[in-house]
Amino acid sequence: MASALTDKLSRLVKEMRGQARITESNVQDMLREVRMALLEADVALPVVRDFIARVKEKALGQEVLGSLKPGQALVGIVHRELAATMGEGVSDLNLATQPPAVILMAGLQGAGKTTTTAKIAKYLIEKRKKKVLTVSGDVYRPAAIEQLKTVTRQAGAEWFPSSPEQKPLEIARAALDYAKKHYFDVLLVDTAGRLAIDEALMQEIKELHAALQPVETLFVVDAMQGQDAINTARAFKEALPLTGIVLTKLDGDARGGAALSVRQITGAPIKFAGVSEKIDGLEVFDAERHAGRVLG
Ligand code: GDP
Repeated sequence: MASALTDKLSRLVKEMRGQARITESNVQDMLREVRMALLEADVALPVVRDFIARVKEKALGQEVLGSLKPGQALVGIVHRELAATMGEGVSDLNLATQPPAVILMAGLQGAGKTTTTAKIAKYLIEKRKKKVLTVSGDVYRPAAIEQLKTVTRQAGAEWFPSSPEQKPLEIARAALDYAKKHYFDVLLVDTAGRLAIDEALMQEIKELHAALQPVETLFVVDAMQGQDAINTARAFKEALPLTGIVLTKLDGDARGGAALSVRQITGAPIKFAGVSEKIDGLEVFDAERHAGRVLG
């Protein structure tokens, strides 16, 4: 099935008929369409600029200029470059450490951290046969602690109790201690998020990171966040050495351009995609397939 972008580029190429061959200026016109498609998919503007510059270099080579179907050749280049930017191969969770391996979940409130914590717990239990403990450091929202308890149960993992009277660091240390004593393979630490970047909260998660020394620090980001994803990603990257990204809510309408922005800003691999509210709605991220979605 031809994408909307392929259609647009084919139209441009038809308009060029009669010209001896495709020129650099035709390529510029085509790149303008690619740029529009990426912006429509909510890729952040600076990321689009970088991307187009990389594609332009390749597009001015023989593959496009010498092609009988330059529109399709260009879409091919864009698709390959998108897939390469968003990831090379599959990037599984790294648990290569003395157990318990700690996984720290970071992201804004509502991004899907708690849900994803349980999804990952289930994934680790079923696919990697691990013994998994979860804990919530969100002492600001008692409902969040309860929510983690509920979804942890659904995942078949064990939940470590915490309460709003405690400090997040104290909770994290107690959970780690418990995980060690009871031979857990993995400790998943859910954290508090705010609706926007918040200095105090960033400081708190930095301290959690320093105390827990997680083997994975996952940045959970909502695919529907669009253009704003770039600012969130930058703030979390500055605060923490991120090791992976989970892009949630890909079952929604979003074309998922946030994947490109977040990957480029953080440099961290996109490890999983959230594809439903349900606990089994987690997929290993497939950059190739996602490239098709971004192009529309
Ligand atoms: P947190 O504040 O970051 O912990 O976010 P939550 O885990 O509470 O998720 C916020 C909302 O997004 C909830 O209503 C979840 O059910 C929903 N959610 C999380 N991940 C997904 C997903 O992949 N797809 C859909 N459709 N909804 C999701």
